[in-house]
Amino acid sequence: MKLIASVLLVSTALSVCAAPYPANSTLGERSLEERATGVVTTCKTKGHAALTFDDGPYYGATAGKTIANAGGKATFFVNGNNWDCIYNRADTIKALYSQGHVIGSHTWSHPDITQISAAQLNNQLDLVERALKKILGVKPRFFRPPYGSVNDAQVKILQQRGYTVVNWNFDSGDSMGKSASESIAAYKRLSYPNAVIALNHDTNKPTVDVVVPAAVSALKSKGYKLVSISECLGQSAYQSVGTPGQRDSSWKC
Ligand SMILES: [Zn+2]
Repeated sequence: MKLIASVLLVSTALSVCAAPYPANSTLGERSLEERATGVVTTCKTKGHAALTFDDGPYYGATAGKTIANAGGKATFFVNGNNWDCIYNRADTIKALYSQGHVIGSHTWSHPDITQISAAQLNNQLDLVERALKKILGVKPRFFRPPYGSVNDAQVKILQQRGYTVVNWNFDSGDSMGKSASESIAAYKRLSYPNAVIALNHDTNKPTVDVVVPAAVSALKSKGYKLVSISECLGQSAYQSVGTPGQRDSSWKC
């Protein structure tokens, strides 16, 4: 564990992110210096690139459309109540799901889960599961810890609940103050066929408007296949798939 490096990166991220994002921003995903056992950071198959989007649903529909139009799939790790209430964005989630993108959990309110109790973590998971059951009828399989921050104790809880914990091996830098052109340049530096799980945020408008179209084009021209985390890991996308609910008074945060 390189704790010092991690702490430095966190403080940099927070100070950088304070200005350009709204007050409710929880951007600033931590670098993966602290890797817990059992956390996935890359795909099983060479030539696979799994674009992932955290902190939404927000502008995700735009990214989803771009990727689907290019014949690809992506993964959206959604919050319940972070930038917006998930029930206000139910149509976005349904659209992404119907395009074949995978919906995973990123907790209800985006806490650093290493700083909360087991009971609090379970509650964070319960609330997102309940929402996705109502909106899509599914129980998610994939979990992305906020800030990439997770330790062995939480991985154990998550795995007992059937989750696969997914971090990343490429950060577009969109929560670290990188400009769109810097993020695009980073994507262009990726070396095919090394498998990639890429971190992005669909709460960041330049990401969905500018970076994703360029990244999709760059990755495809290198030869990458744009896959969901399900295909990336060879695991079913959901722990269960059922019938969605109808909107009622319980659809609120
Ligand atoms: Zn996040």
